[in-house]
Amino acid sequence: MRSTMQDVPLSITSILLHGTTVHHDSEVVTATADGTRSQTYAALGERAARLANALRALGIDGDQRVATFMWNNAEHLEAYLAIPSMGAVLHTLNIRLFPEQLTYIAEHADDKVVLVDDSLVPLLAKLLPTFTTVEHVLVAGPEAGAADLDSLRTSGKQVHLYDDLLAAADPTFDWVVADENDAAAMCYTSGTTGQPKGVVYSHRSAHLHSMAVCAGNVGGLTWHDRVLPIVPMFHANAWGLPYAALLAGSSLLMPDRWLQAEPITRFMVASRPTVSGAVPTVWNDVLGHLDQLVSAGTPADLSSLRLVLCGGSAVPVSLQKALSERHGIEMRQAWGMTETSPVASVAAAPAGVDGDRIWRYRGGQGRPLPGVEARIIGPDGTALPHDRESVGELEVRGPWVTGGYYKDADPEKFHDGWLRTGDVGHLDELAYITLTDRAKDVIKSGGEWISSVDLESALMGHPDVVEAAVVAIPDDKWQERPLASVVVREGARVTPEALREFLGEHFAKWQLPDAWAFIEAVPRTSVGKFDKKVLRKQYADGELE
Ligand code: ADP
Repeated sequence: MRSTMQDVPLSITSILLHGTTVHHDSEVVTATADGTRSQTYAALGERAARLANALRALGIDGDQRVATFMWNNAEHLEAYLAIPSMGAVLHTLNIRLFPEQLTYIAEHADDKVVLVDDSLVPLLAKLLPTFTTVEHVLVAGPEAGAADLDSLRTSGKQVHLYDDLLAAADPTFDWVVADENDAAAMCYTSGTTGQPKGVVYSHRSAHLHSMAVCAGNVGGLTWHDRVLPIVPMFHANAWGLPYAALLAGSSLLMPDRWLQAEPITRFMVASRPTVSGAVPTVWNDVLGHLDQLVSAGTPADLSSLRLVLCGGSAVPVSLQKALSERHGIEMRQAWGMTETSPVASVAAAPAGVDGDRIWRYRGGQGRPLPGVEARIIGPDGTALPHDRESVGELEVRGPWVTGGYYKDADPEKFHDGWLRTGDVGHLDELAYITLTDRAKDVIKSGGEWISSVDLESALMGHPDVVEAAVVAIPDDKWQERPLASVVVREGARVTPEALREFLGEHFAKWQLPDAWAFIEAVPRTSVGKFDKKVLRKQYADGELE
């Protein structure tokens, strides 16, 4: 028997229409060099319609790809809404990738148009001659008129001012009602080996994922919230926060290019976010800045923040505790990948668990969201019990988990319809996931595995350690041994012996790093994670001894 329910597609178009009509009074606030600029969701809806008309006039029809090369700001949000809702495909380019990777991606995706921020024109100008499929460039932002447009024109592309095109375009658009399984947006993973791989989101997957991000276990978003995505919109859709905010009617606060601890703190004090999201390295920097402000007797008022979502790499318990105890900021760890839209699991303690026992749960990757299934697979390819002991590769599946890559079969990444995450860990009887490593970062010492993540989290709990990254180095006797690279707090002095003693409380002796390097900063990837590839290379080149 079929249901009697209406068959209405789940789409980004419906997110656009709901957000900009029902919640037309909510606002998007964007940081500027000396303050902020704002517009209502009603104005956002009108500008999205104008953008869709402008793109149609440039010849964008059907599912052609329109790329963005932008920070988090109002114009990027307009593109997020207009491009999928007109039936085209939004392709967010990660501005921090290597030039060769960006050239590969723009060509592989067959991008026809690029929207670029005024501040990113110099960066795009260098790449544009290699973007062979691109025909038009739209320069957006309050300073677009002052940008060096000629540097873009030399590539032979047609260059337009975004605001001029919008001003000349019609303010209403006959939005396309998509098949919910059609492509809406695409994002390439940074690709630790080989070329980046394209993940293509559907209208349906984006809609379902946004609803999951709104739900109480994740963001618990309402129209009283003010959501600050610090995680870039060019990386895994800013964790779905922009679409989720539109669905819930929450206002959006966009930091544009001012992402360092000092300006982001100033922006938070001024714009009063209730919910925010960023990778741990960002919050670690913010924590250091907040501590300094307290020492200087000028503490920042961040009392508006009720929840900080954090993920992208393991979130040390020491960071969560420090923010909570010293600054009253509550953090919630989430896990996911570009391939999982990205939010797939979230860590909060089970009902009835309180006191110090919560950290066992909040220090891990949490429970899968409804719709997402998780399992742990052993070396022989069979599923392992959920007993907190059996360690293997995490596999997931669900309606917002990719089943393949764009024009790239890569069967190695899939297993009987499940995505192989490349993350290693265990599940417990309450379905909590604990990741101990990425498969490629595990340290294999004398037939036993040592978790680099556990060592890093423990080291970062030392009062004089700002950051620590642990990688495997080759060893004649044990095959591999841990090398710890440590960033020490300014003015502090610590020795390897002292750190080994500190770790000795929680680790067996054979798990302790025996090689140490004291460095100025841990190298980071394009999305702010510790770049262990670089550390391994520095060690191989003799730079870390
Ligand atoms: P990449 O880092 O490869 O460029 P993604 O941004 O998609 O691509 O990263 C996904 C990976 O980030 C996951 O497979 C996992 O290793 C790591 N990750 C994300 N969130 C967490 C978390 N909360 N704890 C530990 N690792 C995480």
